[in-house]
Amino acid sequence: MLLRPSLMDDEMDRGYLGRVKRLNGFREKRETTDALRAWDACLRGNVGRVATTELLSHCAAVSLETFSNSHMTLPWRRAITPFHPEIAHGSAEAASIHRISGFRLARDGAYLCPECIAGDHSSAGFSHWRREHQIPGRYLCGRHQMPLRRVENEWAFLEAPVAHLADSVPIAYALMEASCQNPVTKSFNAIGEALMARTAPLPLRSVMRALKRRARALDLQVDGSALRRPLLSDLILDACPTDWLEDVFPAARAKRRGVRHHQLDGVLYLSNAASSVEAYLLASAVLFESPDEAIGAFIAENASDAPPVRRRSKSAPAMKSLREAYVAAEGRYSAVAVRCETSLAIARARLERMGLPNLVRGRAQRDFRNAAVAFYRQGLPLAEAAAIGGVPCADLEALVREAGVALIDVLDLMRNEAALQAA
Ligand SMILES: [Zn+2]
Repeated sequence: MLLRPSLMDDEMDRGYLGRVKRLNGFREKRETTDALRAWDACLRGNVGRVATTELLSHCAAVSLETFSNSHMTLPWRRAITPFHPEIAHGSAEAASIHRISGFRLARDGAYLCPECIAGDHSSAGFSHWRREHQIPGRYLCGRHQMPLRRVENEWAFLEAPVAHLADSVPIAYALMEASCQNPVTKSFNAIGEALMARTAPLPLRSVMRALKRRARALDLQVDGSALRRPLLSDLILDACPTDWLEDVFPAARAKRRGVRHHQLDGVLYLSNAASSVEAYLLASAVLFESPDEAIGAFIAENASDAPPVRRRSKSAPAMKSLREAYVAAEGRYSAVAVRCETSLAIARARLERMGLPNLVRGRAQRDFRNAAVAFYRQGLPLAEAAAIGGVPCADLEALVREAGVALIDVLDLMRNEAALQAA
């Protein structure tokens, strides 16, 4: 008999394996995976070699799709791929992907938040490792806005996070500062987050085409021939704080100014994946004006590749799905389009008709959401609400007008009615 703990919210796959291990009194990882395999074979018959991540999804009684999309780093690592991008991360066809690379980390070490640990202990009596903390470029806990701590052990997940508080070290202040304040690092995080929310990868060829188009417009070197134009890798080097760049993409340490760096520059011309997903995110963050623009370009390129039937079936998400995605994406149109697997243009058109304006506009530090809360919920005058969000008054006024489409429709109806009666 195997004791099977309930999966916790955002729990990291390796951390869940650790809880199965500890709950059942196993001493090591191998003993735990052997027991999982035996339990699974007994339950489902002899079904051949099953990936550890799939065994864990059975143990947690959730679909492989749920386990992949909410508990693994696979959607980050496989966000852009040349290899079978049509296969969703958690589909039955992804079995070999799970066997080969399902259990890997997205960055070295294990990251924890002391505040989360304290909160978990007071609410549940134990703590768990969160996937959100293990993503490259994340240095603050999203819940507590507190700096994460790092453990130099990729299997620290087998023990409870609290057991590693003493041997964890704080994230360097420079990394946190870079992550929060630099527009390129923020864009890197936002694009990565939006792509990770997808249930399937984006084809590398679509992303490469979008990046190349933008690089050409900026007159950068877009192929592997003799150097004649400025390099994308130099642009990245100039735009990113060095410590941050070398932490999210360690291969950048070998970059020399004016010299081609194949893992960075190759994202524009190597069709079999020049590098890890972080190189594509870095290129996207420096080439495009905003995360929305980058994601919109990728989705548009991808849509132009998709067969007509597939495009038709995904072209009109229901209002309920759009509304839920809008909430989950905190009002960012491009992320809504990704979640609903539709184009940015379609998402924009439908959301505007629903009176749900884009709350993320441009790269500047403007908090339209806070401004809208101050105006609608707290009842502050427009100018005061705009000041709270750091938003130009005219822009907030435009947002308020966009949110008033239902009233506009009714006013038009009244006008038509009045015209009919007068006729
Ligand atoms: Zn936290």
